[in-house]
Amino acid sequence: MTTDTHHCDILIIGAGAYGLSCAWNIARRDTGARIMVVDAGEFAEGATGRNGSGFRMQWGLELNIRLCKESIEFFENIEDHLDYPGGIEMRQCGYLLLASNEKELQRLKDAQDLQHRFDVPSEAMTPEDCLRMVPSLNPDGIVGGAFCGKDGVANPFRYLDALQKAATRLGVEIRYSTRIDRLVPQGAGYRAEGTFGQITTDKVLICTDWAASELLDEHDAGLPITGLPKEALVSQPCAPCVDPMVVSMKHHIAIAQVARGSIVFTVTRHREPGGDPSSQPDFLKFAGRQLQDLVPGLSHLKVFRTWGGASSVTPDMQGIYGETQLPGVYVAVSSYRGFMTGPAAGRIMAEMVVNGKSNDPIAAELNPYRFTQGKLVYEPLLNQD
Ligand SMILES: Cc1cc2nc3c(=O)[nH]c(=O)nc-3n(C[C@H](O)[C@H](O)[C@H](O)COP(=O)(O)OP(=O)(O)OC[C@H]3O[C@@H](n4cnc5c(N)ncnc54)[C@H](O)[C@@H]3O)c2cc1C
Repeated sequence: MTTDTHHCDILIIGAGAYGLSCAWNIARRDTGARIMVVDAGEFAEGATGRNGSGFRMQWGLELNIRLCKESIEFFENIEDHLDYPGGIEMRQCGYLLLASNEKELQRLKDAQDLQHRFDVPSEAMTPEDCLRMVPSLNPDGIVGGAFCGKDGVANPFRYLDALQKAATRLGVEIRYSTRIDRLVPQGAGYRAEGTFGQITTDKVLICTDWAASELLDEHDAGLPITGLPKEALVSQPCAPCVDPMVVSMKHHIAIAQVARGSIVFTVTRHREPGGDPSSQPDFLKFAGRQLQDLVPGLSHLKVFRTWGGASSVTPDMQGIYGETQLPGVYVAVSSYRGFMTGPAAGRIMAEMVVNGKSNDPIAAELNPYRFTQGKLVYEPLLNQD
């Protein structure tokens, strides 16, 4: 076996929505640092290539509203930001969040009060409004909802491609099939080892999402991050019938009709964290029951395929952005929502890695030490879409 030795100034591990966004954001600061991104798999192998493609500003916590609003505004101008003609198939078709009881409805209303302070154009919806928007919904059990026309869907593969090309143009080196097994302190920096060989570097940014602790545990710098298996299915194409992205808090389902007419259903069910992330044989049966209850008007559609993926979860289901106990080793973990927060996360992490800190209050709130300090942050509108 041949092994290689490389050197860079900043090593980013993981080439998903977070890793590539961080790489581009660091590179555009023009510090002269040699930046390398490595990924164990191939292009879009992680959760970014398996997700439901949705983005929304409708959250109930200031930090989530700000992260997503900034990211969506970035998507709106991505052709210019990343010099990517054709864009990322962004469709601001809106997100319709459904409430099945008064408590859920109140949470949506409270969240809207906060959203409006940040100019998020969300509106309250009656059950009739919801049914007018999506006639295939089951009217039983819908007590109302919320809608924001700035939310929507985009193509995560094109997003990754755009970032990859823009980062490469700025001199970032990206290597796939390059798994890092260990980080070893060396001098003032680190040696990252894998079967391919080793990379010496001054700073490391871990963007491997749910797998982040694997590299930190042996240094007793582990963080409470696990991988939650999630499953999705895509139907045969059909006539336009679901314009907005629909999220049912009760059913833990997100529904989006994509450009070619197929409908993508992301269905979350209780599965043990850390288990096999692939779609399980009983998934179709489970999803079928849920869909029959939520959207009986779509239950005749043939399923083209199902798939699974893992998403990171933390004790408060919020991301982790910051320097770990290992000096010069940073971590950016999405804790779900990593597609819709990627641009803002990349901006914040670039500030941290280049300057040693970010003045954005989000960085302070999502710091890695909050779990041991008991400073958890909870999102009232958390539904895993
Ligand atoms: C079914 C499903 C639906 C979802 N729907 C949405 C949605 O609609 N909207 C949304 O915003 N989010 C959604 N998410 C969550 C979102 O996809 C993730 O939060 C996001 O993709 C995480 O991005 P990332 O770059 O951190 O991780 P990833 O995209 O997973 O990238 C991490 C990369 O690290 C690499 N890696 C891991 N370990 C190593 C190692 N030791 N050495 C080198 N490389 C390594 C992996 O190969 C991988 O490519 C969904 C997730 C799933 C699974």
